[in-house]
Amino acid sequence: MAKVLYIEDDADDAVILEHILEQTRTLQNNFHLIMDFHASGTNKFELIHASRLTAGLQKLRETEIDIVLLDLSLPDGDSLHSFERLHREFPTIPVAVLSGLKDDAMAIKAVQLGAQDYLVKGEVTGPILLRSLTYAIERQRMLTKVEKLREREHFMAYHDPLTGLANRQLFFDHLNHALAQSRRRRTKLAVLFIDLDGFKQINDSLGHQYGDAVLVACANRIKGCVRESDTIARLGGDEFAVILDSIMDENDARIVAEKISTLLSRPIIQKIKEATVSASIGISLYPDDGAHDELLVRMADTAMYEAKAAGKNCIRMFNQISKLRQHGKWRNEKHLRNALRCNEFELYYQPQFDVQHSCCTGAEALLRWHHPDDGLILPSEFLPMAEETGMIEKIGEWVLHDICEQSKRWRQHQLPFERISMNISSRQFRDQKIVHKLRDIIHEYKLPPGVLALELKERTVSQDLGFAMVMFDQLKQLGAHIVIDDFSATYIPIMYLGKLPVDAIKIDNLQIRTMLGDNYDPSVIGTLVILAHQFHIQVIAERVETAQELDYYRSVQCDEVQGYHVGRPMPVEMLSNINSVADPQPVFTAVFGAS
Ligand code: C2E
Ligand code: MG
Ligand code: MG
Repeated sequence: MAKVLYIEDDADDAVILEHILEQTRTLQNNFHLIMDFHASGTNKFELIHASRLTAGLQKLRETEIDIVLLDLSLPDGDSLHSFERLHREFPTIPVAVLSGLKDDAMAIKAVQLGAQDYLVKGEVTGPILLRSLTYAIERQRMLTKVEKLREREHFMAYHDPLTGLANRQLFFDHLNHALAQSRRRRTKLAVLFIDLDGFKQINDSLGHQYGDAVLVACANRIKGCVRESDTIARLGGDEFAVILDSIMDENDARIVAEKISTLLSRPIIQKIKEATVSASIGISLYPDDGAHDELLVRMADTAMYEAKAAGKNCIRMFNQISKLRQHGKWRNEKHLRNALRCNEFELYYQPQFDVQHSCCTGAEALLRWHHPDDGLILPSEFLPMAEETGMIEKIGEWVLHDICEQSKRWRQHQLPFERISMNISSRQFRDQKIVHKLRDIIHEYKLPPGVLALELKERTVSQDLGFAMVMFDQLKQLGAHIVIDDFSATYIPIMYLGKLPVDAIKIDNLQIRTMLGDNYDPSVIGTLVILAHQFHIQVIAERVETAQELDYYRSVQCDEVQGYHVGRPMPVEMLSNINSVADPQPVFTAVFGAS
């Protein structure tokens, strides 16, 4: 049943048209022999009447109409302007205009403007009307079909057929557009080059069809990590690229890359088969690394190859790898020792907040290296070498002294910190002398009990639970707080927690999700909190990056939070400033509200 909207103010004309339309019903039975009427489903017309243009437009908004018969002399319309108004709002609905005037020039004008037909009132008969209506509807159908085909063709020209992501050409179009915008707005932009590790083996062992499904799953996971406005492209094979525009600094790009890396390394289950891939990600930044599209892409690509060379499943920023290449010298023991001697290390502090009572409880000390030539170097770049060479012990002593000095200063200024957390690496923990060293330093600085928290990774603790138990007892006797860092109950069964004399666990939702893979259930964090509380262990959520995450952790009764959303790691002067009692913490007030 095709719905015909007849917009006509003259009641007599409306009745005449209804009669004519009635005649068409008998005609249709014969007509369908010539035209494939039944195939198109247009074997009956239903007439809907409106006596004003505005009423007709309203009907079109409310009802699905197949064709409009429009009288050109309406009280609220002005000849062909009525048509133009209607056609502008509903360009895909076919319209035949009805006029009392036999005017060829007007008829041609109407068709040029987009009308399907120009009918003269006194001349309209059943067959004429039937032909006009059916031709108009069919023509519109064909046009819609052609339009859809054109859209599809256009889409295929700029997208990857497998994943639906942008292809190389669209990627470069978007990159150039984003670069022009960044230039104008003086903002930064990042290009991420992502290459899957181990994809070839999946293709070879599980077949191409399965490989395709893995690529689609990876594309969807990447989509889940970026804003809708960011461009993701598949540049070929197992290579993807992402444009992140309007970022604040390289940390923003790193956060997204870390999210992508974490999500991609979760097992992919397709048709009961399970596959695991990981990603090597290279990042380049505008304007830091280059000003042009091809240069930025080449640099991101170089950084990605560097990530592969570094053992895959890792992230490299172009600026860092160029530093590493040019100054690879500092990655050895001599330079670490030199850095200690020349005082090139600094501790940044990241604040921690009590979520339930909205107050700052302490800060975690995070090590930074200011290299005279290479600038700021993060722990992931030099700690492995420090561990390997044993330099971590000397560096760890420096960290502890610095923390104690700082704590003394803070106590003198009455800053509202209950606790400072220090990270202890696996090699430091295995060194039994650590207990004596800590005892001496705590006495030297007269550190009150409970001020120092020691953070040990779950994996380190799990290597020898018996040893850990003994060490924890001794460390607790010194008044230290024990925290299990990066806890996901992967290496230590949750029920075992109750046996360990620990004060807190630190959790990170994304990491837990990655570790548990398809066994992840959103309720797991809440359950973890309940169990930990039963053992009188506090729960600190880390890497809290958004307001939603903060709300979530609050809703599941986490005790404390830490993360970019509530406070980034920062030099001590900044932390001292924003936490002084006289000048309340702006981040804290913005996030938690004034208290
Ligand atoms: P961690 O103890 O788990 O520290 C948390 C890491 O997450 C820090 O990285 C911190 O800068 C980063 N982070 C904080 N908030 C966010 C956030 O919202 N989003 C994201 N994506 N990251 C966030 P950083 O400073 O690079 O340290 C990395 C690791 O290096 C630390 O992990 C810790 O295991 C180790 N480390 C740092 N300082 C020391 C130290 O003095 N001694 C030892 N032994 N290890 C250290
Ligand atoms: Mg830590
Ligand atoms: Mg951690």
